[in-house]
Amino acid sequence: MKYDVTIIGAGPGGIFSAYELMKKKPELKIAVFEAGYTLEKRKCPIDGDKVKSCIKCETCAIMNGFGGAGAFSDGKYNITNDFGGTLFEYIGKNKALELMRYVDDINMSHGGEGTKLFSTAGSEFKKICMQNKLTLLDASVRHLGTDINYIVLENIYNEMKDHVDFYFHTPVETVKVLDPGYRVIYKGGEVDCDKCIISVGRSGSKWMESLCKELNIETSSNRVDIGVRVEIPAVIFSHLTDKLYESKIVYRTEKFEDRVRTFCMNPNGIVVNENTNGIVTVNGHSFEDPEKKTENTNFALLVAKHFSEPFKDSNGYGESIARLSNMLGGGVIVQRFGDLERGRRSNAKRIEEGTIRPTLNATPGDLSLVLPKRILDGIIEMIHALDKIAPGTANEDTLLYGVEVKFYNMEVKLDNNLETNYKGLYVIGDGSGVTHSLSHASASGIYVARQIINQA
Ligand SMILES: Cc1cc2nc3c(=O)[nH]c(=O)nc-3n(C[C@H](O)[C@H](O)[C@H](O)COP(=O)(O)OP(=O)(O)OC[C@H]3O[C@@H](n4cnc5c(N)ncnc54)[C@H](O)[C@@H]3O)c2cc1C
Repeated sequence: MKYDVTIIGAGPGGIFSAYELMKKKPELKIAVFEAGYTLEKRKCPIDGDKVKSCIKCETCAIMNGFGGAGAFSDGKYNITNDFGGTLFEYIGKNKALELMRYVDDINMSHGGEGTKLFSTAGSEFKKICMQNKLTLLDASVRHLGTDINYIVLENIYNEMKDHVDFYFHTPVETVKVLDPGYRVIYKGGEVDCDKCIISVGRSGSKWMESLCKELNIETSSNRVDIGVRVEIPAVIFSHLTDKLYESKIVYRTEKFEDRVRTFCMNPNGIVVNENTNGIVTVNGHSFEDPEKKTENTNFALLVAKHFSEPFKDSNGYGESIARLSNMLGGGVIVQRFGDLERGRRSNAKRIEEGTIRPTLNATPGDLSLVLPKRILDGIIEMIHALDKIAPGTANEDTLLYGVEVKFYNMEVKLDNNLETNYKGLYVIGDGSGVTHSLSHASASGIYVARQIINQA
């Protein structure tokens, strides 16, 4: 079997590269290999009744399958160069924004029309944040919501499925370099292609690492973000979330001068488990459908940890901390902010008596037994700083879930075309280490598709 282009991974990066190739060069023969299932077959077994917590399935329905890690996400497409990745370093700031807007247009024409585009431009909150030693980052945010995000993916898939060969439940084992072209090898088969786009996301990070070793492609890795997910009554943050939806706020701690930042804000949303390579961490999302909205808002507070020589395994460090919380709590731990400051664990009774109803069934415990002191101190300082712009954030009953870890894929050495040292072998999306978000990953897919189209 021979294809013009094979794409490994059907997350946003893979989907948008396939979509652009199909639209602009319909004569190309394209295959997409995906370790997970089609969208409608992606079902996490946790039902809150028979299955209460993660049972570590062979392929995680939340992370793998058509739509990738973003399929059941809140569908927040941040159109910005301020966060979400460093794509602009490769392709330039204007090009990166142009491609993110182009992705937004595609989403709008596939079921996203009518959803809100929020913007920090001209917001009065910039000044209020500054006055309280906080920085509000610039962005436009398209909030699709989990339900509309699903519909958009469904519509894009329906448009592609008769023109692109999808191989689901087919994890690629390796890629061999031919001369010319590439051989994509999976269990029970192989195909050859002229060009190969790798878009395996965060869940494919270990695989990506071993492929880079095999093919002698240079990589580097030195960052991991560690923190907690905060859950508060939605009214406490509503003045911010009603206007901006997602506010990315950065605080520089007084004690250590570390940067703590808010991440992935979900107004009226739910806190969820996330399974990365068998380790359960916490995340969050929210729905557009008014019936599915909760009375709580959640967001992460993360501290970036950069390592210098000789330590290289930043993700391993993050995993160890997450594993510790899994060891103590059997999964994610939840603690009241008041209990954390008092130096005592939360128990079921204290959570029950609190004023906030947790949206995730986590184990009450003590986060100070899990998180390094420096990180925990930074988080506590930031909660008090946020309390000044959103009074009530530092209430005793505020819930903290831990741990939230943002793993960064090692960075694959790429040129400005997002091409490796092998001609025609591209690495895009979160798996490249260049992007960390839906909009950047999708834009990187379009960018590479256009490189291929221009060469064809
Ligand atoms: C719960 C959750 C909520 C999120 N919310 C947001 C949000 O609101 N906004 C935002 O910007 N970002 C969000 N993110 C992050 C966002 O989902 C990712 O940045 C984005 O999906 C990256 O896209 P990608 O295509 O690079 O990788 P992924 O989406 O991870 O897709 C990679 C795909 O490759 C497949 N794969 C891996 N290895 C192989 C292999 N060997 N062979 C075949 N297939 C393979 C995987 O199964 C997966 O489907 C969220 C993530 C999670 C988990």
